[in-house]
Amino acid sequence: MKICVLPGDGIGPEITAQAVRVLQALGLKMEMEEALLGGCAVDAAGDPYPEATRKLAQEADAVLLGAVGGPQWDNNPRELRPERGLLGIRKHLGLFANLRPAVLYPELANASTLKPEVVAGLDILIVRELTGDIYFGQPRGIEVRNGEKVGFNTMIYSESEIRRIAKVAFEAARRRSKKVCSVDKMNVLECTQLWRDVVISVAPEYPDVELTHMLVDNAAMQLVRNPKQFDVMVTGNMFGDILSDEASMLTGSIGMLPSASLDANNKGLYEPCHGSAPDIAGKGVANPLATILSAAMMLRYTFSMEEAAQRIENAVKKVLAQGYRTGDIFEPGMKKVGTREMGDAVLAAL
Ligand code: NAD
Repeated sequence: MKICVLPGDGIGPEITAQAVRVLQALGLKMEMEEALLGGCAVDAAGDPYPEATRKLAQEADAVLLGAVGGPQWDNNPRELRPERGLLGIRKHLGLFANLRPAVLYPELANASTLKPEVVAGLDILIVRELTGDIYFGQPRGIEVRNGEKVGFNTMIYSESEIRRIAKVAFEAARRRSKKVCSVDKMNVLECTQLWRDVVISVAPEYPDVELTHMLVDNAAMQLVRNPKQFDVMVTGNMFGDILSDEASMLTGSIGMLPSASLDANNKGLYEPCHGSAPDIAGKGVANPLATILSAAMMLRYTFSMEEAAQRIENAVKKVLAQGYRTGDIFEPGMKKVGTREMGDAVLAAL
């Protein structure tokens, strides 16, 4: 098990350090090596995704990333911005499937803007296609037609692109509550009619998983009306971009949300959904749980170690039940802890 660790910028090094401690505590045979990505790489090597990092990421089975970015690099030319490093590694590794769980632990139900009874115990997984759709389709552009400017993009998916993301969703559902809801706009868009047809054609390979379909406008509504009806939702790049952000906000606690981006062989990049939080960087107060939960996803999806993944997730549930809270999820009456103390609590719970 070769893991490339990319702490990145801002709170990145603080939070990844805790996830690394948790992985080490499992006593598994794994090699972990660190490299630079983002602003720190620009400063040290003049490149947000330097060759040494590229090589290490290529050779690793999985990548654990903190976060990149910060105000000191905001005025850099585009090719020297930290986000370039992030886009670069995603493209280089061919990561086409983005998995974002939205889990709301009952102890944190008050953090949501929705009523606790609507969201307490929420556990959904959004599977978003990441490399196709209207974001990459050609032709695209802005040009003058009949004396006025027009803007246009192309929504396009091939059968093989739809099939491979559908399979990721069905496989993920098998590890969960065995329900997939495919989201499209087939009543208006031919591209998503094909999406629905292909997803239906993949379903017989997974007779143990229940498949339903929903139009994207209804899905957006159902996510805030009754989100607990969903298990796995699978959708294209643009709808997934919007729905995954909507779903993550149901939980109200950005410091708790992990993510995975996978290639065709389950090699993956695992990172928290939040950014580098420059406002609290270096203060030792950041919540490391999203990164620790990203490490659990790594064990589940890249290494097929479901039991070890659940050990970490159960340890996180336990520390929440014990009342440990970093500042971002703190409520009166709870025990306020910093980044490292939260790591200590997870280790103790393990
Ligand atoms: P952010 O997620 O970094 O921060 C938003 C707010 O949430 C801040 O108040 C921050 O303190 C808080 N927060 C975030 N993570 C937290 C944690 N683990 N514990 C406690 N509080 C936490 O978003 P932003 O402020 O919009 O962006 C800051 C920088 O991060 C920018 O440079 C941006 O480009 C970058 N960014 C990187 C990624 C990534 O690496 N994947 C994602 C988003 C933003």
